[in-house]
Order: sequence, then C-alpha cells, then structure tokens
Amino acid sequence: MTGPAPYQSPISPGRSWYEDSVSERPRYPRLDGSLDVDILVVGGGYTGLSAALHLAKSGVRVCLLETARIGDGASGRNGGQFGTGHRVWPEDLEPQVGLERARRLFALAEDAKAHLHEMMAANDIDADYRPGQVSLAHKRRYVDDFRRHAQILRERYDYASINFLDREATSARLGSSTYFAGLHDTGTGHIHPMKLLVGTASAAAAAGALLFEETPVASVGRVGGRIRAETTFGTVTADRALLATNGHGGTLNRRNAAHVMPIRSFIAATEPLAEPERVLPGGEAADDSRFVVRYFRKSVDGRLLFGGREAYSSSEGDIAGQIRAQIADVYPHLKDVGITHAWGGSVAVTMTRMPYVASPEPGLTAIGGFSGHGVLLSHFTGRLYAERVAGNRDRLAELEALKVPAFPGGTALRAPLLFLAMTWYALRDRF
Ligand SMILES: Cc1cc2nc3c(=O)[nH]c(=O)nc-3n(C[C@H](O)[C@H](O)[C@H](O)COP(=O)(O)OP(=O)(O)OC[C@H]3O[C@@H](n4cnc5c(N)ncnc54)[C@H](O)[C@@H]3O)c2cc1C
Repeated sequence: MTGPAPYQSPISPGRSWYEDSVSERPRYPRLDGSLDVDILVVGGGYTGLSAALHLAKSGVRVCLLETARIGDGASGRNGGQFGTGHRVWPEDLEPQVGLERARRLFALAEDAKAHLHEMMAANDIDADYRPGQVSLAHKRRYVDDFRRHAQILRERYDYASINFLDREATSARLGSSTYFAGLHDTGTGHIHPMKLLVGTASAAAAAGALLFEETPVASVGRVGGRIRAETTFGTVTADRALLATNGHGGTLNRRNAAHVMPIRSFIAATEPLAEPERVLPGGEAADDSRFVVRYFRKSVDGRLLFGGREAYSSSEGDIAGQIRAQIADVYPHLKDVGITHAWGGSVAVTMTRMPYVASPEPGLTAIGGFSGHGVLLSHFTGRLYAERVAGNRDRLAELEALKVPAFPGGTALRAPLLFLAMTWYALRDRF
C-alpha cells in the first residue's frame, strides 16, 4: 500500500531533514471571508510569527497570512546557527555608524540571544539547542583578521566568550586540518529550526493570533486611512501591517523588493555518521570565511548537516552531489557518505548585508534581509515590532536608522547584476 506523497513546499526546493524530524507540523486554515483586526502580518516565518506571538500576548487582535505552509520559507529550512552580532563584524560597521552605535547594534544582537532563550523557556519550546560555534578562516591571509576580531570583541564590545584558535587548535576542534585558524565562541549555539518554528507558531495561536496558511496576499496598501490586504479567499482590513515576506516577497511591495534580494542556499543531511566523534567532536556549529559561506554541524542523531552552495539562477542542479563534494573538501573520509536529504531555501540579502527595516507607507512596516544571519535577529525584530506597536519601547528604530540602499538596476536588472557580483565573489573565495 502506498500512502499520500510526502509534502513538498511549493516555494522552496527539496524535502528537508527538519521536516522528517519534527513531530507533525500543525495545520492552519485558509482565510475564508473578510476580517477586521488591529494588526495584519504578511509572512509566516520567524519575523511574522514572533510579531504575532508578542502582539497577541499583549492583547492586540492580530491576523497572519502565509502563502504556503507556515515554515516553508527560510525559517523552516536554515542552518540553525545563532552566531553572534550581525552578518557584518562590528568593527567593520564603525566607519559608517561610529563606535557607540556599533556597540548598541552589537548589544541588540546579544539581547536577541537572551530573547530567544527566554521565549523558548516561557513557551515550553524544545528546539534541541546545543552550545558552541567555530568560525573558520579558509585563507592564510585572514588569520590576523580573526585574531584581531577576537581581541576587538573582548576589548571594545565586552564580549568575553570568544577565543582565537591557531591552526592546530582549529584542527582539533573541527576534526579536519583544512582551515588556517578559527574563533571559538562559547556564548552562542545552534538549534533545530523547524522545531523553533512550530513552537513559535503554536505559542502564537495559543495566545490568540489568527494564523492562516495557503493564503497568498495579492496586494496590500493603504485604503481610506486603513491597511487593506486582498487575497483570493477574502480581505483583511487592519490599522497597521507588517510585511515579513523576506526573500519570498516578489514585488508585493516594490520598495521592499528593491532593497531585499533573494539568493538561494542549499543544505544536505547525511545518514547518521559511522564515526561521529571524527567530526566536530565538541558538538559546535561551524561556518567559514567564504563569501559564499559554508556552514555545518551535527544533528542530535549524529548526521552531518552541511550547507554551502548558493545559487543565483533558477535551476537547482544536483544539490546532493555538489554538497557531497564540499563535505569531502573538509572531511575526505566522507567522500562517499550517503545523503538522505537535500534541500534549498531563499536567503534574503541587502546591499550592506545589514537588515532592512523601513516603512514604505504610513502604517506599513517591512522587515527582512538578514543576509544569512537571521535565526536570532528575525525572531527578535518580530518582537521589537510588537514593542513598537504597544508603544512602550522602540528598539526597532536602531535598525531602521541603518542606511540600506536599494539594489542598482531596478526589478529587471538587479537579478542579473547580483548574479555577476556573486559569481565574482565566489571566484574570489577560491584564490
Ligand atoms: C538554506 C538557508 C540557511 C540559512 N542558515 C542560517 C543560519 O544558519 N543562521 C542564520 O542566522 N540564518 C540562516 N538563514 C537565514 C534565516 O533562515 C532567515 O534570516 C530567517 O529565517 C528569516 O525569517 P523571516 O521570517 O524574515 O523570513 P521567511 O522565513 O523566509 O518567511 C517569509 C514568509 O513570507 C511568506 N510570504 C511571502 N510573500 C507572501 C505573500 N504575498 N503572502 C503571504 N505570505 C507571503 C513566505 O511564504 C515565507 O513563508 C538561512 C537561510 C536559508 C534559506
């Protein structure tokens, strides 16, 4: 007897190992008819769900609309690595924003860590958190930058959880001598992204947020002093709206689309390793210094989850084969390892690689573009949006004040221009 075909997201390629290792994903209904609420959220990833959760908990009537199933975007399919700070090192932000603001932005990202741990504890979410992160220099010329970065974080950013690793110490921590140096960060860690996603959605629904799946928003904008969203299945009218569509927003809002660009990243899960102690024996997550970053870690059942290859075109190609070759660069003994799952997702990037927070029109706020560094930050900015609506704090303003320019080339040329730029960076990674 054959059962129903396994679910395949209509917006992201491949079935993830996360999908097969989370208990049943809850189903939410389609919108059916018209609704009038205080706040509308478009997009069911961490940003939108966290906003919905915190808004509902503060007594706001909130409704969230998701095109596909909740978690089909980046939030259900990512590398699960928290990291520290933002995608851009704080010392590299200093020339643009000055030391004091760079320190505030760094502190905000530290608040994001505390937020996630508190939120998971308060809502009884077990997302398989494991501590530790190792960042790796893939070129000899980056070694001094890594050493200096650890020192700067300790001295200028009061972050004492990071230590420089020389080549020998890096090899021991990694189980591979491929990299020239590393940074060992004991103040961060990694999670099962889909468990966090499902837990946040369930908590939001329990708090009274109205969640609707398979309900694409066709248009959203200001009509007669209120926000109105049109879908095939009904209309939602609200006082304000959050666009949390990230790399999947298409041209729903043209200003958002000009600032937030999707690029695709791919991950493969191996079968449980025969000798798991030979790979990252301390259980950390790892990421490297490539522009097209490679990121990997072990799952709780001893698989290697390895992400790397980014693509800027529409074809996926042989994800498993290409990731296996990247695994073999680091762990030659795994050159023939069996791969059980291979999948991809849309990472949303900005020109500066810092998040885009803006109000394209009165009452409408857009948040996205975390540039591969959004597990912590997207969840936290959702909460910051809720704080802004409640009117008690406005920490979101710190991110909104960042000057993130639009991509050049308009909607027609930006994708080919980005393809050229990324190809150049990918080539630079090799030499
Ligand atoms: C393969 C991969 C690996 C990654 N690894 C890491 C990592 O290790 N660490 C890290 O920090 N970050 C990582 N990221 C990035 C991280 O996952 C994102 O920054 C974060 O999940 C963004 O959450 P979000 O809610 O803003 O967007 P998403 O989770 O992408 O959610 C946006 C949602 O909006 C919905 N939507 C779009 N348009 C509409 C519409 N018109 N109507 C209704 N709904 C709509 C989409 O369907 C989607 O579900 C990775 C991303 C990918 C893809």
